[in-house]
Amino acid sequence: MTNNDATLSIRGLTKEFVTPEGANFIALDGIDLDIVPGEFFIMLGPSGCGKTTLLRSIAGLEQATSGEIWLGEDRIDRLPPYLRQVNTVFQAYALFPHLTVRQNIAFGLEMEGKKASSAEVKNRIDEMLELVGLGDFGTRKPSQLSGGQQQRVALARALAKRPNVLLLDEPLSALDLKLRRGMQTELKRIQIESGITFVFVTHDQEEAMSMGDRIAVFNKGSIVQLGTPRELYSEPTNRFVAEFIGEMNFLTVTLDGGMVRTAGGNHIAAEAFLEPPTGVGTVTVGIRPEHLRVAEGGTFAGEIIASQYVGTDLRLCVRTGPEEEVWARVDANYTGPSSIGDRTALAVAPRSARVVRA
Ligand code: ATP
Repeated sequence: MTNNDATLSIRGLTKEFVTPEGANFIALDGIDLDIVPGEFFIMLGPSGCGKTTLLRSIAGLEQATSGEIWLGEDRIDRLPPYLRQVNTVFQAYALFPHLTVRQNIAFGLEMEGKKASSAEVKNRIDEMLELVGLGDFGTRKPSQLSGGQQQRVALARALAKRPNVLLLDEPLSALDLKLRRGMQTELKRIQIESGITFVFVTHDQEEAMSMGDRIAVFNKGSIVQLGTPRELYSEPTNRFVAEFIGEMNFLTVTLDGGMVRTAGGNHIAAEAFLEPPTGVGTVTVGIRPEHLRVAEGGTFAGEIIASQYVGTDLRLCVRTGPEEEVWARVDANYTGPSSIGDRTALAVAPRSARVVRA
């Protein structure tokens, strides 16, 4: 649908704010990033990590302190927002309440300044309504639509201009959980069908994992890891990512000539590790709850202190030593001892434990 072959390249982008107290605050700290054409790219991170500032810098709503932004062969960071081939969908949909759905979508096209014929405009609107699944809603006003439908109109309006890149700033956060899940599936479909590069900001790791081709995890103005959802989950390079993406048990262990002993006094066998730690000293070991299973004689024996049946699995928290607790996700149909106060033992799946950097 679009001639979309421009890589969005961010080079050494830094943004400093001066706080009301007069101090300098670094919101973005030398970001380097290439977002390839047709990619569903996610910027993920906790509140205040700088992801919105980066999105706004790409859109031209924020001027970076230093660094460059390129779209293909064109340097765009000095251009005013309306001359950049990017478009933004915000959390607040900002539809015109007195205009119909069709007029709202047409507004974006008419503002473009290009002389599209009325037949072209009509065709484009029809195409957009079809794409977002609102073919029968063209004559309604925004107040006659649900939140999810309004979001689709905002999306259609932004896509109608056929930008090279669509920027989306937490566009689903106003929707309830069920609607959000539905829209995640829809957005992914629309992105694939339109072929437009999507850059999507969220603090919700599940949302990021469910849609992203690649995810950049942000913390304190920097990208701490960039990868596919699978890479981030199975090979987190640091504790921040391991904690932010999915769940993980963190155990402080002492190493001593091939022995790995937890602070709670349990010994983890070398076979449990993808790469067994070597040397002497103290490190942190991460184990995902789904990599622990109930097994007599397992590494972590102790008393169950929490037991939660969540339908898909049974979540057990076991006290495995003084100040040491381990969460396991076991089969939902497990019928052995699983009540609070029962004793159990957990074995670590082979090659699943890893040393986690701070
Ligand atoms: P959220 O998910 O809450 O929107 P975010 O990751 O998008 O968070 P940003 O909005 O990019 O975060 O803000 C990054 C940091 O920059 C925050 O600590 C914020 O307080 C600070 N900041 C943003 N705008 C300004 C400003 N105009 N003046 C001073 N500091 C600012």
